[in-house]
Amino acid sequence: MAKGKSIFCAWYCKECNKMNYTSKYIKSAEGNITKKTKFCSKCKKRTEHGKKDIKKSN
Ligand SMILES: [Zn+2]
Repeated sequence: MAKGKSIFCAWYCKECNKMNYTSKYIKSAEGNITKKTKFCSKCKKRTEHGKKDIKKSN
């Protein structure tokens, strides 16, 4: 269905290490994006989030 291979990833707060978001990304297009500023509900502010790939086993 999808053209590129999409990978599941999780975004975790770099300040408190809380996993806040999960998303999918296309490796070829967005594989080099490893950090984003997102709102952390634990810190109650926008913090830098790092990306972690989630490996789905079948
Ligand atoms: Zn946080």
